[in-house]
Amino acid sequence: MSDSCCGTIAVEIEQFTTPQQTSPGAGDLPVVVIGAGPVGLAAAAHLAERGIDFLLLEAGDRVAASVAQWGHVRVFSPWKYNIDAAARRLLKADGWTAPDADWLPVGAELIDDYLAPLAKLFGDKVRLGAKVTAISRLGYDRVRTAGREGVPFLIRLEGGEELRARAVVDASGTYTSPNVLGASGLPAHGEDAVFVDHALPDVLGADRDRYEGKHTLVVGAGHSAATTLLALAELENTPITWAIRGGSAGRTYGGGDADALPARGALGTRLRAHVGSGRIQLLTGFYVHRIEDGTVVSRDPSGREQSVKADRIVSATGYRPDHSITSELRLDLDPILGSPRRLAPLIDPNQHSCGTVPAHGVDDLAHPEPGYYAVGVKSYGRAPTFLMATGYEQVRSVVAALAGDWEAARDVQLELPETGVCSSNLVEAQEQRVGLATGISGGLLSAPLPLVTVSASSGGGCCG
Ligand SMILES: Cc1cc2nc3c(=O)[nH]c(=O)nc-3n(C[C@H](O)[C@H](O)[C@H](O)COP(=O)(O)OP(=O)(O)OC[C@H]3O[C@@H](n4cnc5c(N)ncnc54)[C@H](O)[C@@H]3O)c2cc1C
Repeated sequence: MSDSCCGTIAVEIEQFTTPQQTSPGAGDLPVVVIGAGPVGLAAAAHLAERGIDFLLLEAGDRVAASVAQWGHVRVFSPWKYNIDAAARRLLKADGWTAPDADWLPVGAELIDDYLAPLAKLFGDKVRLGAKVTAISRLGYDRVRTAGREGVPFLIRLEGGEELRARAVVDASGTYTSPNVLGASGLPAHGEDAVFVDHALPDVLGADRDRYEGKHTLVVGAGHSAATTLLALAELENTPITWAIRGGSAGRTYGGGDADALPARGALGTRLRAHVGSGRIQLLTGFYVHRIEDGTVVSRDPSGREQSVKADRIVSATGYRPDHSITSELRLDLDPILGSPRRLAPLIDPNQHSCGTVPAHGVDDLAHPEPGYYAVGVKSYGRAPTFLMATGYEQVRSVVAALAGDWEAARDVQLELPETGVCSSNLVEAQEQRVGLATGISGGLLSAPLPLVTVSASSGGGCCG
């Protein structure tokens, strides 16, 4: 044994019985999928098709608990792009009738007509109320290397129960970790002490009483903010203030009549009209700094302050991934987006819209931690360019790799329609009381979209 403290520790570690000697081989264990949203359920469908044992853990008391939060919002991509291919095959074999391919469902329809029937096929392989609080490897912290890849994952649930897995597919999304109101990415002073509503409240439905007659401040420049503002504008005697960090709302207004997606152009045009008429008061250069006595105070980088007093605050500032459950795993994350490093340049919102994101699969999603994959909207970190269709291709590729079918895993393809995945000639007819929301900030286009077939090597056009 070495005299140095470091040498002593190294020798003692080698004297431990390794977990591999006492636990079943990781290969005998199920794959654990975290999150029963559209992408987690699609992962389950691919695992089921390939005959790989799995367990799907969902924190909520129902499947797709996050989608249920925005169940009143109509999506912008029609059914044909919202259904995973393996899921479709399994459902069809069970006698399911597919919804109209060109229809734009609201979130609740996505659940009732697709995700809930899909989850039902998996029986007790889907566990509700199972919130994952931490993932590690059995007997291994993040530092220990020798034999690591052969050791099962250890998954801890709220309440303390621990499960083992041969691999982890983390589809836990970002919806439960919204961005803060504070303009510098830190919570505004006092933000924790006041009740802030997060994006897309059901202003004209279940939440109407909260907003009617109340002065509401909406913070954010994306589609979610726009959707909420237009809904608020339908309420009588309800003053509305809209605060954005930028110097103009041009990005949110989009291309108007020239917008490649008519409904989104119309959304921007209506919003512009409400601002023009004074129905919505727009505050630009608004950097939320603190909230005191119901007053939201902006302090811009030069120190200039402005403030607004409101009864309700809606924060529509986007989402960020919560990596805390994986802090004992070896992740290689892009320092800007918090996505896998290799994926980052493919999804960077400074370079891409969701439609120009190329198809990507297991190699772009891999981390130094073998067997752990974040997929779905969580894999994009802070990039607001995610589509269900890209998530479905991710899990097809990851599950093929878990099955050892590397040829299929690396053959990543993504077929997008002529005018983009978000396009539909039904949008005008279907645009309904809350308008369209993309969940994608800055998601407006000002130019027509090109014809695209997106593969691993080419980009495409869509959701801006
Ligand atoms: C309003 C809105 C509209 C959108 N419209 C479209 C559209 O038209 N087309 C499109 O392609 N995309 C759209 N998106 C983007 C994206 O496709 C959706 O957000 C989609 O729901 C992402 O799927 P997901 O499975 O990755 O994550 P989620 O749907 O967020 O699912 C994650 C699941 O994980 C669960 N979970 C979270 N943490 C844990 C934990 N610790 N343990 C266990 N379970 C956990 C959650 O309860 C949730 O059920 C939209 C997004 C929003 C917000």
